[in-house]
Amino acid sequence: MYDLIIIGAGPAGLTAALYALRANKKVLVLEAKNYGGQIVNASNIENYPGIVSISGYDFATNLYNQVKKLNGEIVFETALRVTPSKKVLTNKNEYQAKAVIIATGALNRQLNIPHEQDFIGKGVSYCATCDGHFYKDKVVAINGGGNTALEDALYLSNIAQKVYLIHRREEFKGDLINVEKLKRQDNVEFILNSTITAINGEDNLSSIVVTNKEGQSKQIAVQGLFIAIGQDPKNEIFANVVDLNDKGYIISTDGVHTKTPGIYVAGDTRVKNLRQLTTAVGDGSEAATIAIKEMKKDLD
Ligand code: NAP
Repeated sequence: MYDLIIIGAGPAGLTAALYALRANKKVLVLEAKNYGGQIVNASNIENYPGIVSISGYDFATNLYNQVKKLNGEIVFETALRVTPSKKVLTNKNEYQAKAVIIATGALNRQLNIPHEQDFIGKGVSYCATCDGHFYKDKVVAINGGGNTALEDALYLSNIAQKVYLIHRREEFKGDLINVEKLKRQDNVEFILNSTITAINGEDNLSSIVVTNKEGQSKQIAVQGLFIAIGQDPKNEIFANVVDLNDKGYIISTDGVHTKTPGIYVAGDTRVKNLRQLTTAVGDGSEAATIAIKEMKKDLD
């Protein structure tokens, strides 16, 4: 029996673990893939208070090690179901807890155009910091207008020979400071008001077709395409214990509780105004603290 099972080892989940472990609770963290969540993909974090600059990988690794140092139990299993009685079934085991925090984040959004899947690992990537080094002195394109796309473009501009940043609008959703930095890079070219409509190549990606709002298309030779168009949650498996909005995010009236007592939510996977590292760790600490407080109340 665990005090707390946390589903997801991203910044929200690992912060929740950190707080619960420091409160001497027996904690299990379940992670389907790799620790760190999406922040692992951030080439450089420069908006986390008190840290001038750190790579997403280093940040995530520090947090993981911090949890491990407190003897936090982290297992790489996929949660398949949570019951109202706080039983968690995974692809390998069945666990019981007094409380559960769902901190599953979101998955990379796909363009859903022909051949996108075929070229994954052969030119198409969703992680610039993971795959960027394969494109030294090559020509690459990044698709997206949020901070991930902007930071990816900056990162790749220091590796690749040429970087196209393709965005479907005139204005970027990401921070202006990143846009200004990109404008100063002479190997970065913005292609705005445009979407990628085709991906071509034989064994490996060799070109993409970009179509603007007027419907005019052009072919651009690229060896790499980094898709950074946001994320979507994957919470259908929790629909028996939480309410989901039309986009699949978990609804919480106060940002912590779900409709089931003892089942809480934290991080990007809930309905919220700002999905950032700062808000994810805030969610994790709050969810763990409240879960522990309510656990105590149940015992009193
Ligand atoms: P995001 O902010 O949701 O931006 C996604 C971008 O992709 C938007 O510009 C969107 O266009 C575009 N897009 C969505 N679907 C598209 C499609 N089908 N085709 C073409 N373009 C499409 O996602 P993100 O950049 O991954 O960032 C996620 C969150 O993490 C954000 O809150 C971000 O600020 C945060 N983040 C933080 C850091 C950091 O703290 N250092 C680093 C990276 C990300 P529209 O503008 O038209 O909607």
